[in-house]
Amino acid sequence: MSSGSAVATHAQQDEFNPFLSMQTGFDTAADHLGLEGGVRDVLSMPDRELTVNVPVLMDDGSVRVFTGYRVQHNVLRGPGKGGIRFSPDVNLDEVRALAAWMTWKCSVVNVPFGGAKGGVICDPRTMSIGEQERLTRRYTEAIIDIIGPDRDVPAPDMNTNEQTMAWIMDTYSMHERKTSTAVVTGKPLSIGGSKGRREATGRGVMISANEALKMIGLRPEDTRVVVQGAGNVGGLGALLLHREGYKIKSISDMYGYVVNDRGLDMPAVLAHLGENRTLEGYAEADYETSGKAQLEIDCELLVPAATENQITSKNAERIKARLIVEGANGPTTATASKMLSERGVTIVPDILANAGGVTVSYFEWVQNRMGYFWTEEIVNSRLEQIMVDAFCEVRQTGEKYDVDLRTAAYILSIDRVASVYRMRGIFS
Ligand code: NAD
Repeated sequence: MSSGSAVATHAQQDEFNPFLSMQTGFDTAADHLGLEGGVRDVLSMPDRELTVNVPVLMDDGSVRVFTGYRVQHNVLRGPGKGGIRFSPDVNLDEVRALAAWMTWKCSVVNVPFGGAKGGVICDPRTMSIGEQERLTRRYTEAIIDIIGPDRDVPAPDMNTNEQTMAWIMDTYSMHERKTSTAVVTGKPLSIGGSKGRREATGRGVMISANEALKMIGLRPEDTRVVVQGAGNVGGLGALLLHREGYKIKSISDMYGYVVNDRGLDMPAVLAHLGENRTLEGYAEADYETSGKAQLEIDCELLVPAATENQITSKNAERIKARLIVEGANGPTTATASKMLSERGVTIVPDILANAGGVTVSYFEWVQNRMGYFWTEEIVNSRLEQIMVDAFCEVRQTGEKYDVDLRTAAYILSIDRVASVYRMRGIFS
């Protein structure tokens, strides 16, 4: 038995382990492809995992040690690519899963990157800006030997942002003794960021929703949307969907959600959130604190855009949406995904739906290396082209193999990576 199928058995035992969830998707697709044993084993485990323990001087003069990771799942198609997450919940299995999803995501949209991911166990809400900066710089120094424009290119993820990328770029550049902008993406515009990067993931979610609507025969104006998460992906995704004519019925953050049957005025909701750092108190909607109940609100489109393991075997039966477009990575467990597909719910999987971010990260990396910057119109139109083409290819793969979109996306991406493997051969 290959190690891949051994792990799939474990997935049934541990629904909430994101790496095992990823393995289930991988194994299903690998079975459809009839992937040969050796290639299957190589692609089902990460190439490299680095764990670092970094000391940080805190504001009160004490020293705290933080544990961080950088996992490179696969770099066959190009440098590793993947965000860095700061969260108390970070763990190695989560980072492994996120790194593997990056391999498949880059391959689905056919950008020349492999997959990687990083994370640091910390709670930035309890840290000053100075402490966050010192942690970021020290973590960067600890992983510096394995990152770089041609090796592995980090980007923002949960609780990291343009400022974090600026600190990483500066730390790397100081060590290289030259300014090296292409070492990270998601940077501020003034130091080599790309126009359109900030809203790229949300824009990709919107493009995916538009394509999926055509597939199931719905119009934006008849589509009530529930969005979980009001950050970079959820907040900006909801704003773009709202502009496109969708009716945003509810949006949440980690503390609660607002809901209005007549639809939310998204610019006003986001302005309220920006000013108050909470959705509570927004006058034109009801406010609830009961977390996951939001996912069960009656709607046509559900966009989970917060974190992993939100739609599980525990609530899948109560989900009312006909369509789920996954803004977050791994929001639906493998078990829940199967339950929903059997009920006829269409799921546009994370590795396709949220690939807008990495696509414009690729554009940013290209622009940095060219030293020539594109207009926002060019960025957005090239993003649209790539997302629409990828959606079409995933849909056609689904028809060819008679599988749902998630399995189709895995089949398409694994097949691309495996063919590079066969072409390059095994270095020895
Ligand atoms: P973010 O930190 O900007 O926003 C996260 C949002 O989710 C916040 O509003 C937070 O309050 C909310 N949230 C967290 N836990 C929640 C919970 N349990 N219930 C409801 N809301 C909750 O992060 P982001 O960059 O928007 O990333 C969100 C997800 O999208 C992650 O899974 C990330 O890996 C994925 N993703 C991000 C990008 C990107 O470009 N930022 C690209 C692809 C995928």
